[in-house]
This record gives sequence, C-alpha cells and structure tokens, in this order.
Amino acid sequence: MTRDLEARDELPDWAGAKEFYQKYDPKEIIGRGVSSTVRRCIHRETGRQYAVKIIEVTPERMSPEQLQEVRLSTAKELEILHQVSHHPSIITLIDSYESSTFIFLVFDLMKRGELFDYLTEKVTLSEKETRCIMRSLLEAVSYLHANNIVHRDLKPENILMDDCLNIKLSDFGFSCVLKHPEKLRELCGTPGYLAPEILKCSMDETHPGYGKEVDLWACGVIMFTLLAGSPPFWHRRQMLMLRMIMDGRFQFSSPEWDDRSVTVKDLISRLLTVSPENRLSADQSLQHAFFQSHQRDEGSSIAPYYRFRIAAWAALACVRILVRWRRARPITSELLTRDPYGVKGVRRLIDACAFRIYGHWVKKGERQNRAALFQNQPKALLLTMGEDEEREGDM
Ligand code: ADP
Ligand code: MG
Repeated sequence: MTRDLEARDELPDWAGAKEFYQKYDPKEIIGRGVSSTVRRCIHRETGRQYAVKIIEVTPERMSPEQLQEVRLSTAKELEILHQVSHHPSIITLIDSYESSTFIFLVFDLMKRGELFDYLTEKVTLSEKETRCIMRSLLEAVSYLHANNIVHRDLKPENILMDDCLNIKLSDFGFSCVLKHPEKLRELCGTPGYLAPEILKCSMDETHPGYGKEVDLWACGVIMFTLLAGSPPFWHRRQMLMLRMIMDGRFQFSSPEWDDRSVTVKDLISRLLTVSPENRLSADQSLQHAFFQSHQRDEGSSIAPYYRFRIAAWAALACVRILVRWRRARPITSELLTRDPYGVKGVRRLIDACAFRIYGHWVKKGERQNRAALFQNQPKALLLTMGEDEEREGDM
C-alpha cells in the first residue's frame, strides 16, 4: 500500500518502517546518492526482486531546516514519480513508506545498473546503440515536458538499464513542475551537464531564468559522451570548464569522431546550442534525420529498394575492406612500442584500462590526454601533470 507523505502525522513514528520490513527483505547496497542508499530487496510474499531507495531523515544527524528540506524534496520527488512512472522509459515506482527516521521508495530493479557503468565497460557506443538509448531518453523527456516537468539532473548515472539493456530514466530528486510562464533560477544539477543559461542565471540577477530546454542540453552532453567516451566539456579547473559551457565550446576532434556520421554530429550540435530558443526540443530531436532513417522495427521487413541498397553497401564495404587490407601496415612489436595508441584495437583496450584505473572519465583533449598516460616518455607526462597541479594550487 502506498502512503502519502503528507499523511505521516496521522501515523505512529515507526508504522511506515514496520510495514516496509514486513513486506520486503532488504539485501545488499546497489547504489548510493547524496542523501540516500539504494538496496536490492525481496518481496517476501512473491520472492520478486526490487530496489529500495532509503532516504535518511534522522533528527540527530540533521538540522531542523535540513530535515524539512529533505522531507519536502522527497515529497516533491514522490509526487512527480506518481505522475510519470508508468511511462515505458521512466523508472516504475512500486511502493513508498515513511517513518520518523527513514523514507523508503520501492522501484523496479534495474539489473544492469547505470548507463554510466555500461559505458565505462564499453568505452564508446556505436551510433546504432546510441540511437536506441537516445530515442528512449528523448521519449521520456518529451513526456515529462508535455506534463510541464523538468528533470534537471539528466546524466548517465541516472539512466538505468534492465536485463535486455532497455533504459529507464530515474532520480527525480531535482525535478520540478513548471507553471507557465514561470522560469526557474535555482542553481542545481551536475556541473558537466549544466546548461549555459543555468550558469548565466546564477551569475546575473537580471537574467530572465531558465526552463525545460536545460534537459535538452544535458541530452546533448550525454549523446556526445556515449559516442566519444569522454564528455564535451571538461577541464581540470572547474571555472574553465564552466566557461567552456557558457561559450558552447566543444569539438568533434578526437579519433572516435572520424568514423561518425555528419547526421549524428548535426543533432549533437543542435542540442548543444547555447541559446535555449534555438536549441531543439525533445519532439524536434525525435524528428531529426538521425532517428528518421532508422525506425524501431529495423530489419523486420525489408523493402526491395532497401534490399538493393544493402547489397550495394555490402559490395562497397567488401571493396573498402580489400583496399584497406592491401594498404594496412602490419602490426609489429616496433609499432606497438612506438605508438600503441595509434592502433584502433589497442586504443580501445588502453581506454578500457584507463577507465578501470581511474573509475571515471579521462578526458582526451588539449590539456589532458588518455594517450599521454601510455606514452613512452614518463618525464613528459609527469611534467604535464605537475604543471596542472601547480595551476590547480593557484585557484
Ligand atoms: P540520488 O537521488 O541520491 O542520486 P538515485 O535515485 O540516483 O539517488 O539512486 C542512486 C543510485 O542507486 C543510482 O545511480 C543507481 O546506481 C542505483 N539505483 C537507483 N535506483 C535503482 C533501481 N531501480 N535499480 C537498480 N539500481 C538503482
Ligand atoms: Mg542520482
């Protein structure tokens, strides 16, 4: 039974927690957030697995103001979840309970976890896989926006995957309902995904505020990251990164972009557009050529014209493979020692190792380069890092 948080005053302090523990058996931790812990749990009656987000509201650990803020924001998160969680690309809320010290939100268990971890494992995704993920994400965002809801924290950590690698959007902790023509001013979200207008608004009192478009900017950042394996805006010094965001300064320059289509780059550029008025909406993005040429039922029934095109592509591909094979340099131990990062297969392996070592994105770019981690000149690398650290210290 779902309990409304507003009705908590009528309940004994422990009632919600008791009800939760009677119904579910909590197991190991599967995720952590700023003020929550997420555990796998088992529904005692059916044996089914779920995920429970446990939000602590302990008076001993928090000031009365903080306590009130967490309760209010959780009530807001819950209200929005009730409204949207039946959408196929949005996390399903099953149950919620509240006691004086904890709030429990029970969700469908997304067994493959975060898109972030999936990407870390795969380093970069193909355009086909990116299309599938982005289509579901944009459909979820379009649905939210049609209901005047802004998510405000879109990022791969808040996109979860099930067994079949279908995605669902989660974490509505920063979401809010926008009353037309209201604009928002609050600085919230995750630095690398913040839209320029959020930053400008926080620095300029006369700024008119921001709206739903901020979610589309974050979609652009996510899409870029899925294809490149590193984010479009990154700098060791956060102030410089924020400057890059405000200027909309990013490049399709890393080797990953060489093989990417003009269409995908066009869509990303239209999402990472500094002016919110000129940025594509979720519906406009779904109408973009990147999605139009590949419908959901890809490959199910192929018209004769497409069969001909596929045959022509296959023939061309064979010719290209043959030409490349004839031109290919043999991979010798000398080549591997001199420039391991120049060999595509080895580059992917190196990138995967870098992710495992650092557990986070390692930007390939002007100031920091994944390739540099593996160059055969440790002195040059140390010097570069030392310089950066010195500058960090200056801040
Ligand atoms: P916070 O608002 O504190 O960031 P989230 O709702 O994002 O909390 O949950 C934190 C983490 O817990 C997620 O990033 C994810 O790794 C994990 N998690 C949350 N919900 C689920 C779920 N339904 N299934 C599997 N893992 C989940
Ligand atoms: Mg989160």
